[in-house]
Parts: sequence; structure tokens; C-alpha cells
Amino acid sequence: MRGTLTATGILLVVLLGYAASCIVRPFRDCWLCDGKGHHRSKRKRKLSRPCGWCDRTGKRLRFGRRAWNKAREKYRAA
Ligand SMILES: [Zn+2]
Repeated sequence: MRGTLTATGILLVVLLGYAASCIVRPFRDCWLCDGKGHHRSKRKRKLSRPCGWCDRTGKRLRFGRRAWNKAREKYRAA
């Protein structure tokens, strides 16, 4: 019983830490272009193409933040 409580506590701390980090830094570098906004085509190596994954911004909204935004949208709609 005590072990379960400790595990729950650790999980809660980790979740809170993740939530806080999502608030402080909602964006992370795009995995495809590495935060540059463009990436090299795999077939034509010299060609630099605008990144469609992050819409050329080089940044992607983090999963936690996206979930938070969705939740807020639902809350507002209700
Ligand atoms: Zn990108």
C-alpha cells in the first residue's frame, strides 16, 4: 500500500514537472528540419526545401501543450 502511494506521488511530481515545462517552453525544435524551417530533400541532397511539418517556423507545439489547448477549447465550447 505504501509502495503504491509512493509510486503515485512520483508519477504526480513527474506529471507536474512536465506540465510546468510545457508552460515555460511550449515549443520544441521540429524533428524534421531541426528547428531551421527547411530541410534537405532525401533524393536531391543539394536542394533545400521548406519544411511542411512545422510550416517553416522550425518549431512544433509540444504534445502536452497541444493537449492543454484542446482541453481548453472543449471547455470553452461547453
Ligand atoms: Zn520543420
